[in-house]
Formats: sequence, structure tokens, C-alpha cells
Amino acid sequence: MHQVVLLLIVSMSLFAVNAFAQSIDQVRVAPSADKTRIVFDLSAEPTYTYFTIFDNAPYRLVIDFHNTTNKVDLAAVDVRSDVVRVVRPSGPPRPGTSRVVIELSGAITPEIFALGPAGSAGHRLVVDIAGATNVTEAAPTRTAPTVPAPDSTPRVPRTLDSVPIRPLVVVIDAGHGGRDPGSIGPAGTQEKAVTLAVARKLAARINADPGMRAVLTRTGDQSVSLAQRTSIGRRERADFFVSLHADAFTSSQPRGASVWVLSQRRSDTELGRALENKERLSEELIDVEHILQDADDDPYLNRAMLDMFRDNSMADGYEAAQIILAELGKVTRLHRNRPEGASFGVLSALRTPSVLVELGFISNPHKERLLINNQHQDRLANALYMGIREFFIRNPVAGTSLAELRLQTHVVARGESLSVIAQRYGVSVDAIVQHNNLRSTTIRVGQRLEIPLGR
Ligand SMILES: [Zn+2]
Repeated sequence: MHQVVLLLIVSMSLFAVNAFAQSIDQVRVAPSADKTRIVFDLSAEPTYTYFTIFDNAPYRLVIDFHNTTNKVDLAAVDVRSDVVRVVRPSGPPRPGTSRVVIELSGAITPEIFALGPAGSAGHRLVVDIAGATNVTEAAPTRTAPTVPAPDSTPRVPRTLDSVPIRPLVVVIDAGHGGRDPGSIGPAGTQEKAVTLAVARKLAARINADPGMRAVLTRTGDQSVSLAQRTSIGRRERADFFVSLHADAFTSSQPRGASVWVLSQRRSDTELGRALENKERLSEELIDVEHILQDADDDPYLNRAMLDMFRDNSMADGYEAAQIILAELGKVTRLHRNRPEGASFGVLSALRTPSVLVELGFISNPHKERLLINNQHQDRLANALYMGIREFFIRNPVAGTSLAELRLQTHVVARGESLSVIAQRYGVSVDAIVQHNNLRSTTIRVGQRLEIPLGR
């Protein structure tokens, strides 16, 4: 069972419940000498599904509470366990679902069960994680927290349980290359050149951020197979995979950028079908199952695993795509303002959150000119960078420096300017503007701003 992701679906109720029929009212974490028990106090019998991610750190148990609102500030839940590291919310896979992520110290199979009302307790979902916590030793350090001096020494990379803080790894895949030029615009621009130019700019932007590291699937005009592209993602233990394209469409009409995530359902739009067919014909495309059979010789297990990886990375990919689209929308016209689904080979063989970005359709003469414009490429790369970064601020990966960022809400008071607020929190004006999607530096009294501390 190495590198296995388990997906277990537990439906406690066969009947449809009203939207938001349940709520999470309290979360309690109780470590002991043999296990850590997490109890979710709920307003009604839980309807939930869960899965684990054990193929790479951080090891995670993900629980989706369906038709449920979460009333608990999970950041405030007291976790002092040696086997449970973090209990945090994550982007819901669909409206009405509350997703809770529990980060574990290892690949520990959880025991999960529901309890009905008993005594003063109501409906509960109980999660047991096996493993000892030295409770007596943990207590004193909590009672005397060390407060750093106002002007303490500069931040040094901290460690979590002696795991060094690492940068987030973003694999950037410049579509096509070498003997595969991709689509060709009316003026002769080759898609492979556009994707490489933007990929390089995005890599430079990411590498300038100490919290992130970029890996390119190609750095020049080389042919790279689909298998090579996805294996680079796996080898580098990518936290995110973004594939860049600027495809043609049969009519010159569509010209906006779009972001695609892997969809389990076949794509239902005309455009999706056209793009899928094109990728399918492309010589770089090979069957996903071949990749998996290379890796392991149990095709049935692999098949099941692949479906589970898809489920998991898709939900993350969708959220990432939404955020990236919002950023792209500031610098270029969008084809559609929500992510689109299609089953592209380059995405379906990956386990990491992954998106395919159409930077614009090269078949449109106006877009073709923009796509080779240096400034426009800069803007696209910057929007992609901001979107990816924002995704990881909202969905922190334990052990990475971006996860160390803390958000704080600030309500603008009379007489305050952005620079005053930025100075007060020790962050840059840019960081506040970017994080809050501000279109200008003008702010108004009473406005709520999220301050990304640590940037
Ligand atoms: Zn393409």
C-alpha cells in the first residue's frame, strides 16, 4: 500500500437533506498516550465523505461535510498533538459542502465514526488518529509562550518538527515545442514560442519569490512528450502544475483567455471538444494508463488510484483556476469568467492541483499581436504568478514558507492611508493591494482589508 490514496465514501443518510441542514458547532482535539481524538459536534446526523492523501507530505485526511455550514474558527482550535499537526478549512469542492483538512504527522489510517445523541452530547463525528502524544511534556511549554522582542533578530527559516521549511514547487509546462509547433497564427506566430516566452517570464517571477521555486518542463525549443512533462511534475514533487497554451480555434471568433481544469465528465462545450480533439491528435499525447503501467504493474489498483487522485486534485485545481482567472481578467479579456472542464492528457496523469491556461487564441489576429507583445506577456506571467500564490495562501501546504503567512483583518479607520497601514503591519503596499484585489490605492473608512503578514 505504498503511495496509495484511499477514497472512502460514507453516506450516513440515504435521503436528500435540505441545503445547509447541518452545522459544525464545535471542534475538540484530545491527544492521549495512544491516539488523538478529534470530535466534531454537529447539529444533525452527519453526511460526509472523506479521503486521505498519503503519497507525499503533508499527509492529509480530508473530510467533506455535505450540506453543512461550519461555524467554527478552525484556526482557533487548540491542537497540541504529536500526530495531528493542523486542522484547517479548505476550499469546498461544491457549494454547501464544508471541507476540513487534517494534517497528520505520518500516513496513519484514521478511524472515523458517527455518534448519535447521548447524555448532554448531540450528534458527533469522531476521528481517531493512532499514535502517542506526550501530554505531560507538552503542557508547560504552552503555559509560558515566548513572546519575541519587538525588534527581534531577523526571521530565519524555521522548522516544523525538524522538517526544514521548503519553497512551493511550481512546474510550468510550456505547451508544444521542437517538432510540434502547436497552433500557428494568421501572421505565422507559432504557439510553442508564445508558451515558452510566457513560461520563462512566469518562472523568473516565481523564482524571485523566496517562498516559491519554478521548474520548467522545457527551457528551449525541444520536443517533450506528455509522459516526460508529467514525470517532471512527479519527480520534482510539484505542489502545482500549470500548462500554458495559446491554441487556435476553427473560427477566428473566440479570443479570450480561459483556464481549464480536468473534468471527470466529458467536456460539454463546443470549444472544449475542439481543444480536446486537437490535444488528442497531438503526437505528444499518450494514454494515461501507459504511464501508470510503467510505474506499477497492478493496472486495476492504478486505475482506482487514478480516479481518486483525479477527484482530489480536481477540486483543488478548480479553486486554483478560479483564482487565476480572476487575476487574468485584470490584464486580458476572458473567454469565459469561470473555469472550464476538459479531459486533457497532460492534466489527467497528474496528482497535483493542475490547470491548463489558454493565454488567448492565436487564431485571432488581434490576439496574435498581443501574444507576442513583451509587455502583454509580462502582464500574463504576473497574473499567473499572483493567482498561484493566492491559491497557496488560501490553501497552505504545511512545511512551506508560504504557509507561514498569517492573514489579519484590518478595518480602515479615518485618516489612514494604505502606506500607513502597510507600515504598521510591516508589509508592502503592493502586498495589500494584490491580496485584496484592489484596483487603486484609494481606500475608504470602514473598508475591511486582509493583511498578509510575513510578506
Ligand atoms: Zn496548445
